[in-house]
Amino acid sequence: MEKKERKIVTPGEEIATTEEYVPGRNTYEDHGKIISLIYGFLDVNEKDLTASVLPIKTKPKIFVGATVYGRVVEVERGRAVIEVSVMVDKNNDLVEYVAIGRADLPRQREGDRDSGMMIGDLVRGKVIGIYKSELKIGLLGKNLGVLKTICPKCRTTMIRKGSLLFCPNCERTESRRVAEDYGDIVPEGVVR
Ligand SMILES: [Zn+2]
Repeated sequence: MEKKERKIVTPGEEIATTEEYVPGRNTYEDHGKIISLIYGFLDVNEKDLTASVLPIKTKPKIFVGATVYGRVVEVERGRAVIEVSVMVDKNNDLVEYVAIGRADLPRQREGDRDSGMMIGDLVRGKVIGIYKSELKIGLLGKNLGVLKTICPKCRTTMIRKGSLLFCPNCERTESRRVAEDYGDIVPEGVVR
């Protein structure tokens, strides 16, 4: 059988009759008709002859403690604004999740002006607070922090050298609050 485009049905919509099919998930029967209970995709199974409606995938639910990935878009007065693009859901899957996060940067040492983070850094953080329009991101933890930095001078990906980051092209060094696995493989779709 040819695969048809998925049809969206609305609550109360008749999706089949009980002469043809058995009511499946998210449906009920009314006088020989199978009616959808929800807004979703029609799913007719020709094998066991059930007619169901499957929920349309919604934005994954964020939760305190979730690991998120994003890019630093602003650094100001000890705080970083992070454009979150991916979260790890409760099944440990990486799923797209777009939000703005704010993180307090770890305290800098005296005379260590560029310690912390810079615009463009790829970071891994943990959600420590959820507000209406943004997330509060924590960066304290051995796997949290910067995962990738581009040399601000020549745009080469910097490598870790001791406690500093080093540009193999122009030999510039930078100080960052790096995650323990800086430079290792990070999940696909995160690094451009
Ligand atoms: Zn460089």
